[in-house]
Amino acid sequence: MRSLPGPVASQTSSARPGWANLGGVSTSEAAVVLGAGYAGLRVAHEIRRKSRRQIPVVLVDRHPFSVLRTELYRVADLAGVERDRAEWVVPLSDIETRKGIEFREGEVESVDFVAKQVGLRDGQIAFGQLVIALGSEVAYYGVPGAKEHTYQVYRLGEAIRLAEALKALESRFAYEGRPESPHIVVVGGGSTGTEVAADIATADWSKVTGTPAPRPRVTLVCGELPLLVGFSEGLIFHARRLLGKAKVTLNEGVNVTSVSGNEIHLRDGTVLQSDLCVWAAGIQATALVRGLNVPHGHGGRIAVRPTLEVPDHPGVFSLGDSADVVDPATGLAIPAMAQVAIREAPIVAANVVARRTNQPLLPFVYRQRGSIVAVGGGQAAGEVRRITIWGRPAALLKAAVQQDVRIAQRQRIRPPGI
Ligand SMILES: Cc1cc2nc3c(=O)[nH]c(=O)nc-3n(C[C@H](O)[C@H](O)[C@H](O)COP(=O)(O)OP(=O)(O)OC[C@H]3O[C@@H](n4cnc5c(N)ncnc54)[C@H](O)[C@@H]3O)c2cc1C
Repeated sequence: MRSLPGPVASQTSSARPGWANLGGVSTSEAAVVLGAGYAGLRVAHEIRRKSRRQIPVVLVDRHPFSVLRTELYRVADLAGVERDRAEWVVPLSDIETRKGIEFREGEVESVDFVAKQVGLRDGQIAFGQLVIALGSEVAYYGVPGAKEHTYQVYRLGEAIRLAEALKALESRFAYEGRPESPHIVVVGGGSTGTEVAADIATADWSKVTGTPAPRPRVTLVCGELPLLVGFSEGLIFHARRLLGKAKVTLNEGVNVTSVSGNEIHLRDGTVLQSDLCVWAAGIQATALVRGLNVPHGHGGRIAVRPTLEVPDHPGVFSLGDSADVVDPATGLAIPAMAQVAIREAPIVAANVVARRTNQPLLPFVYRQRGSIVAVGGGQAAGEVRRITIWGRPAALLKAAVQQDVRIAQRQRIRPPGI
């Protein structure tokens, strides 16, 4: 590796007071990372490591914590813990103990690629290089009433809102001594919808509410796409079988056309009555990313080059759910998953360094390692290195992977010896 221009700590001409961890340098010398999720947190760490701590990093997020989003399907657990949601987050305040990375809490509102400025709700940050890792948000696909009348799990606050609504619903049915069970409809037959439906159907709501509560009836509306489309045949076979055991009713082959109050209208004229509806039908890039003046791909995600660089913007990269990366081997979009975001991060970091040293950029090579989908009641269905796994062992493996990711995210905050 060629030596980096520097030392950056001497370039203090436009230093901003308060950027203590940057040693007083201007942020225009820094790599600014937008979003501290799975992708952003790892990129920040990797840029420091790969540049041998010569490139200062500013990490920006709207929250003072990073959300472990892959665990938001555990809505019954969220309902059970009342206030202590520490298990679902990694606090970012500790990152300030880390020399060279500055955490800035703020809502990103704009990016000016020409002036090299990021606009926050309460100020501006200049950047030398930029990494856009702002994740994704729920997509309603223009279905009338879906936004107004459904809950979702794509953000922590929304998952908590759903958890509290479910708990209140269960408590109400128990209190009123109603003979029937509440009917929950989950829209979306991908992994998120499947996991949420199974979690609701198999949770011990009596324990959550502290009163003998009915077991909800759960219907999973898959829409026109097959259940768990894109996953392996073995995984789908066992997921379908275990969903049956969990008493989740599958409604397949018909899209939702509108939601009004407690009614879910399907294209074939069917109307499902529900006491609560969860929308888990898909994601899109955040509104900010969709509005950027860059090429866009599926769901408004940034259509990056194989090097994860934004076309026509040298030194600007995107990854994770914000980026649309096409696998040259298959011509298909690489799925929006945490495991992909985490593996893209070292490539982005290497390319941030390469841009500073005029070295060639590296492409991201996607290798599918496996997936495991939780289907409630301590069961899961998965495929790991082309081997199908299911039941309790699959659930234990998923829990172990999630624990590894949780620890890794925390260690990126408090790495030993730094
Ligand atoms: C219920 C559920 C279960 C899942 N399970 C799995 C799984 O088992 N395995 C798997 O691989 N993937 C799973 N996923 C997908 C995975 O969570 C995402 O692919 C992953 O979170 C993407 O990481 P990211 O860093 O791109 O985005 P995120 O982790 O969403 O991080 C984006 C960050 O950007 C911040 N941000 C966004 N907009 C702004 C703004 N304007 N200003 C400031 N900050 C902003 C957010 O606060 C957030 O911290 C699951 C998703 C869900 C919802």
